[in-house]
Amino acid sequence: MTYEIITKNVEETTAFAVHLSGHLMPGDVIALEGDLGAGKTAFTKGIAKGLGITRNVNSPTFTIIKEYKGRLPLYHMDVYRMEDEEEDLGFDEYFMGEGVSIVEWAHLIENQLPVEILHIHIYHHENNSRRLVFSPAGKRYEDLCKEIFK
Ligand code: ADP
Ligand code: MG
Repeated sequence: MTYEIITKNVEETTAFAVHLSGHLMPGDVIALEGDLGAGKTAFTKGIAKGLGITRNVNSPTFTIIKEYKGRLPLYHMDVYRMEDEEEDLGFDEYFMGEGVSIVEWAHLIENQLPVEILHIHIYHHENNSRRLVFSPAGKRYEDLCKEIFK
């Protein structure tokens, strides 16, 4: 089962991410996919906002993993520039930690991802709109999607 929403502008994408953030729990892992400029970082900023994080969240391209303190900690990862997809940067510690993990370009470390995960693919749509497709893997994320899309 997949779930979809079309957002007309970045504000609508942010609003949906804030809505989702209200239902996140410690140890949740979200995989974000989509072309450059699709809105993966914009979506992550919305999650951060919803978690009460006031520090500016930007793309962690050169650091790969950034950690922010909020209602729950946020672990923001962008693995686009990882040279070796098998390199273990301690991802498991984050995925099983007390915070929420968000991984941009997650398929690049496919072998290191947990089996239960929420995949979100952001597609460019007409004008500034985007199509966000949610594919939950595992009961936790199926329940989460039912909740946020009802
Ligand atoms: P990515 O991290 O996927 O490379 P970014 O989030 O950095 O992409 O950039 C997305 C850009 O697209 C931002 O400048 C944002 O303002 C713009 N944008 C325009 N419309 C939308 C929309 N509907 N949803 C998300 N971002 C949008
Ligand atoms: Mg980005």
